[in-house]
Parts: sequence; structure tokens; C-alpha cells
Amino acid sequence: MQNITSSTIICPQCAGENQISVDDRFIECVFCNSAIYVDKSKVVTHYVVNSNFNQSTAEGNLRRWMAGNFQVKDLDKLAQVSKVSFYYFPMWYFKTLDISGDRIYLQPATSTSISEIKKISVPAGNLKVFHKKEFNENEFMPPDIYLTSAQKWLTDSGVNLTNIKEASLVHIPFFQFNYTYNGSEFTALVESSSGKVYANLWPKKSETPYRAMFGIGVALYLIISIIAIIISVSSFNSGGEVASGSIVLKMFFYILASIPLIIIAFAIAKKV
Ligand SMILES: [Zn+2]
Repeated sequence: MQNITSSTIICPQCAGENQISVDDRFIECVFCNSAIYVDKSKVVTHYVVNSNFNQSTAEGNLRRWMAGNFQVKDLDKLAQVSKVSFYYFPMWYFKTLDISGDRIYLQPATSTSISEIKKISVPAGNLKVFHKKEFNENEFMPPDIYLTSAQKWLTDSGVNLTNIKEASLVHIPFFQFNYTYNGSEFTALVESSSGKVYANLWPKKSETPYRAMFGIGVALYLIISIIAIIISVSSFNSGGEVASGSIVLKMFFYILASIPLIIIAFAIAKKV
């Protein structure tokens, strides 16, 4: 049997016929200079998203995110960054068109343990044709998930494949920060085009003090209600104004009880 050493692919941009060797995956069209990625089943245009951040500005975004309300107090100051890596992560990019309009779907083109990557979105205007010379090839993670697998995932999530207008490969730049806090390891990604931070797990504020305060609050209001009932019953026995008297009394005690609760809540929010 004869070994196939070259084959012809049709450029998805200009329809020009390119001769390539069978091992070639990333090629440039000899006619229009488009970047092309040769998948097992299909030839697609290869795009890249520009990186607009460097390591220190990306870390600045991470620290600001760490200082946010959902993170544990002083995480921005206490987190120790243990490792930083920069890479272009490959995603299959699908554009569908139906009566409701355009929609974009992204699916990882290589296996990753970082589930945050599935949440990312890319504005269409940020896509640039990939040119080898402009980038450091070592920073590009090669795809290892076939286009057909990604299409199957799309079908499984209810997308009609006949509506796919465009399928491409897109490399998206990320800074990956590994950091430790309180002896535990965490990972956060900064998408280096928009600077957006992606993380699924992070040191969260403890909910225990809030739960304890809720318990104390409920107990306090229960006690006030019982006292108010006792007072109203005893005043009924002595022939006083029952209903209105007990309501005014209750209101007074409720307001009185809420003052220390509000103070405790502020104290907890500052400390946690
Ligand atoms: Zn071409």
C-alpha cells in the first residue's frame, strides 16, 4: 500500500487549493495568507484573540477581584501566588444562525482540568487571523479534541447542526495563577484580552457567624413575643386595653432588640 505523503485542502477563506504534507495541522494559505487548521474531519480558519495584558496588570485584576465582596476578607493581601503561566488555549468556535439571530458557542478544543474555561465568551470583533510569525509557538496549546466531538456536544445541548454557519479554531490568551491561602491551593484565570477573572473555587466568606446571628435573632424575637403575650394576658386580667397595648409594646421591644443585632451584623461583616 502506498503511503500518502501529501494531500490537498481547500482554504475556507478563498477556496484556493493548498498542497500540504499529512503531518501539517497549522498551515497558511498560499493564496490569501489565512491561517488554517486541519482537523481530522474538516479544514477550518484559525483565529487568535489578542492579549492586552502583561503579567503584572493581569495580577492587578486578580487582586482587585480578590478584594471583592464574595471573597474572604483580605484575600487580596494574604493570597500567595505560587505559579503563573501564560498560554493560548484552543477553543472550537461555532456561529449559528436561525430565526432568533446569531449565536456563538465555544467548546474547549483540548482537555483541561480547569472547568472555568467553559464559561468564557469572546466578542467577535476580537478575533484575528493567526500568523505564526507574530506569536511564540510554545505558548499555543495544540488541540486534541476533534471538531466532530465538539459538534456532538453541541447536538447534545440542543443545537441543530444545520444552523451552524461557521466553525473555526480560536486560541484565547490566559494568565493562570496558582495561589495558596490558609494552606489550600486555588486556581484563577485572567483572560488576557478583556482582563476578566474566571474562578470556580475560591476562599469564600464563612457563613457560620451569619447563621449563628440568625439563630440568636429568631430566639430574641420569640422571647419578646412571649413576654408581650404574657403582659397582654395579665393586662387583660386587670381589664386594660388588650390588643393595641400589646402591639405597641411588641414594636418597642422589636426595635430595641434590632439595635444590637444590626451592630453585631456590621461587626461580623467587617471581620470575616
Ligand atoms: Zn486562502
